[in-house]
Amino acid sequence: TCGFVAIVGRPNVGKSTLMNRILGQKVSITSRRPQTTRHQVMGIKTEDDAQFIYVDTPGIHIQTRDRNKAINRFMNQAASQALRDVDCVVFIVDRTRWSDEDQVVLERLEHVKAPVILAVNKVDRLQDKRALLPWLDSVGARRDFAAIVPVSAKHGTNVPELEAEVAKHL
Ligand code: GDP
Ligand code: MG
Repeated sequence: TCGFVAIVGRPNVGKSTLMNRILGQKVSITSRRPQTTRHQVMGIKTEDDAQFIYVDTPGIHIQTRDRNKAINRFMNQAASQALRDVDCVVFIVDRTRWSDEDQVVLERLEHVKAPVILAVNKVDRLQDKRALLPWLDSVGARRDFAAIVPVSAKHGTNVPELEAEVAKHL
């Protein structure tokens, strides 16, 4: 089997870091500065019985920032294209914060038929781990997610579990 997986989320949530972690190499530029990924970055991971194609999607969020710039339109188009034919979407958010930009991304995913897995990233930076469970409940009510997986892309924590969830849909 071969599957397409899109990684989406607002700037700075850790999309590139997660993709690099999954692929085990630095294929996507990570940065503290938002919007570093201007082009779609693809990576392929081959395992014994499956091949995964990951797409690090820039742009899906940009509309809230500056509606008029051509570059933003282009990036949003690229993001929408990438979502059309995917088998699975990994939607990343940052710990226990839900922002307007996350909401915009979620709304852009409304018409996506593929299963959406919510990855709650940067849990290594969570001060109070007890805050996580109730938050997962509240955010889980926003959409029928195929799975909700807390991860640390930076440290690799729980990333194999996330990959296992992805693999169910390919
Ligand atoms: P993107 O804009 O969504 O592609 O985000 P990046 O992957 O470029 O990451 C943005 C920033 O968050 C970088 O400084 C990363 O090092 C940092 N980051 C990403 N994942 C994690 C994580 O799991 N834990 C922590 N503490 N930082 C992270
Ligand atoms: Mg990036």
